[in-house]
Amino acid sequence: MDRREFIKSSLIGAAGVAAAPQLMAEDVYAGTLVSGTKSHDGKAGAVSTGVEKHLEVSSYVKESAHRIPVVATADVVVVGGGAAGVAAAVSAARQGSSVLMIEKTNYLGGLWTGGLVLPVLATHGKGRNVPWDKAVKGICSEICDTLLEKGWAVNPLNPRVDPEATKYLLDKMIAEAGVKILYNATAAGVTMSGSRIESILVDCNTGRLAVKCRMVVDASGDGMVFHWAGDPYEARRYHMTVMGRVGGCPATNTALPVHEMRIESSGTREAMDGLDVFKVSEMQQKGRIALWNKVEKMKQQEGYENAYLMEVAPTTGVRVTRVLDSLHNVTLEDSMEWVSYPDVIGMSGVCDPFMYKGRKITRQERPVWQIPYRSLIPRETRNLLVAGRCFGYDLGITWDAREISTCMVTGQAAGIAASLAVNARCAAKDVDITALQKALTAAGVRLNF
Ligand SMILES: Cc1cc2nc3c(=O)[nH]c(=O)nc-3n(C[C@H](O)[C@H](O)[C@H](O)COP(=O)(O)OP(=O)(O)OC[C@H]3O[C@@H](n4cnc5c(N)ncnc54)[C@H](O)[C@@H]3O)c2cc1C
Repeated sequence: MDRREFIKSSLIGAAGVAAAPQLMAEDVYAGTLVSGTKSHDGKAGAVSTGVEKHLEVSSYVKESAHRIPVVATADVVVVGGGAAGVAAAVSAARQGSSVLMIEKTNYLGGLWTGGLVLPVLATHGKGRNVPWDKAVKGICSEICDTLLEKGWAVNPLNPRVDPEATKYLLDKMIAEAGVKILYNATAAGVTMSGSRIESILVDCNTGRLAVKCRMVVDASGDGMVFHWAGDPYEARRYHMTVMGRVGGCPATNTALPVHEMRIESSGTREAMDGLDVFKVSEMQQKGRIALWNKVEKMKQQEGYENAYLMEVAPTTGVRVTRVLDSLHNVTLEDSMEWVSYPDVIGMSGVCDPFMYKGRKITRQERPVWQIPYRSLIPRETRNLLVAGRCFGYDLGITWDAREISTCMVTGQAAGIAASLAVNARCAAKDVDITALQKALTAAGVRLNF
């Protein structure tokens, strides 16, 4: 079942009540570039750069210099506990590295769980020699198989999950792997030593703290770390959606593991700048009000008298902001031709139908595609890897490259590579590819067509 069918089926009971499903892939134009490559007010490591690209700045104030206490040291620091961050942290810890994860909310899964975007898409696609092939294995399969086995997800092809069960499972996995987690802690900047990140600065209710690191994985979704470190990137515009879930519905919705729950959404059709905090806030506010009103209307329908707005997604549905300009950005063209990379670290598959060279590519036609290690590597910072929706891919493949399964593929590779770099005392770009591929294969990742 694709995204269109998923949204339709989650609205089945509310047919005629809820607005027609919006924001389908076919309606989506590839993101528009809003800002250039360099984040700059000049200094790598500055806490906030490039704001002028997104907001009108009237003047500047200066923060006084102050000492920041170092409260932890880890081999690998993972910024962000979404699908990519969890995959990275668990994978690095399983390789024997000490891992600290910094997460600004109090749960794992990011958009997947907190954004209520429940179906894990892009797991399969057209194989080179077979009509339909499973591209994504490794930790993504491990998580999805567990969720399916326990009844916390339905639909083996593109599992649609119970968000609370998923948060529970992810918490259990990082605990079992020995990952140390800092919840309610917002990474707020970096200190640099030459072209290496020396520490990640963290804001929490204790105050501003520093965590020393040997390697960093930027799994923040928004590319916060490579932005601070001064690596080149693009900031893209995309449409945004506020998701919500409705409880108390007739228990007929077998498209979700929680049958009496419906997923609702409200959002923009046009591409928006997800780095304009004023606009995003306004859209979040409008989305909440729209969802409330939808449910009020829904309650007037027979069978929906007990419906209630269970939750507006705590994570705002911003799809894409900063995307790394990596050593080799994945291109849509390569992905359509089964191009093999010598440094492949995993594969991905199909999300929705889309237009390519004037022709609509159906889900059955869209090839599975490889992801090269170089697409996780920033151009300048030596001890940084990037995973999830902000790794390096071109504009044309933006829709497919940020799906949950792809995020986990890049996360798993980034975590294992970070651990190898720690052990070899080398830069991310110098990690032994053969050793990386061997470790990925041992961890169940599929590398080849
Ligand atoms: C509305 C919408 C619908 C979608 N539908 C689907 C779908 O049906 N299927 C699918 O497969 N994909 C879908 N996607 C895409 C997919 O959900 C995301 O691209 C994917 O989940 C991103 O995972 P991630 O780990 O890269 O980033 P995120 O999920 O964004 O995780 C980033 C994490 O980092 C944390 N963080 C950010 N900044 C900081 C900081 N400074 N300090 C500490 N922590 C920080 C965040 O709190 C978050 O937990 C959808 C996306 C949206 C927005």
